[in-house]
Order: sequence, then structure tokens, then C-alpha cells
Amino acid sequence: MEFRYLENVVTLELDGDRCTGCGMCTQVCVQAVLALNDGVAYIVDRDGCMECGACAMNCPVAALMVRPGVGCAWAVFTDWFKKKNVSSQEGSENIRS
Ligand code: SF4
Ligand code: SF4
Repeated sequence: MEFRYLENVVTLELDGDRCTGCGMCTQVCVQAVLALNDGVAYIVDRDGCMECGACAMNCPVAALMVRPGVGCAWAVFTDWFKKKNVSSQEGSENIRS
């Protein structure tokens, strides 16, 4: 995973008892945080979660909970800008253009 957030702070929760194993969360997560095992979703890589909320929004039985936060997304972008050796301001301008 290229983008990482802070360790052990992610709000992602999964209620395996509710999960029907539809697999939707595994399809929408761009970070591959979730996977299926024996027809039930499980969290493969909690710290890879960037709290975008896509899994929770697409789960038909509300088995996933996450508090989406602007701070997390900003941390991801900042990390990316550092790796690209550009400032956040410069990077923001590049994203808009
Ligand atoms: S979207 Fe919900 S019900 Fe479907 S596999 Fe994921 S957690 Fe389970
Ligand atoms: S909140 Fe986003 S990054 Fe985190 S597990 Fe759900 S879809 Fe993946």
C-alpha cells in the first residue's frame, strides 16, 4: 500500500455478525483493507484505511462503521506530496489544474 495514515487511530469497525458476505466492501475499497473469508468480511489491513467511508456507504446491512475525517485525507495527501518532493500548496495547485 503506498498511502499510509497514522497507526492505530483508524475508526473503522466491522460487525461480522451482520455481514452477509456480499463482497461490496471489498470491491469499493481502493486500499484493499477488507477481504472475505468463508463468506464473511474481515479487516486485512486496518492501518491502510484512509477513512473515506465508501465501504460503510455501500454495505447493505450496515455492518461497517467509520467516521470519515478531512484530517486523514489531508495526512494522506501530505505524505504523497512529501514523496513527490513538492509542497502541499504546490500539490494542491497541481491537483486543481
Ligand atoms: S458490504 Fe457489508 S455485508 Fe457485504 S461483505 Fe462487506 S461488510 Fe459484509
Ligand atoms: S473507509 Fe475507505 S479505505 Fe477504509 S476500509 Fe472503507 S473503503 Fe477502505
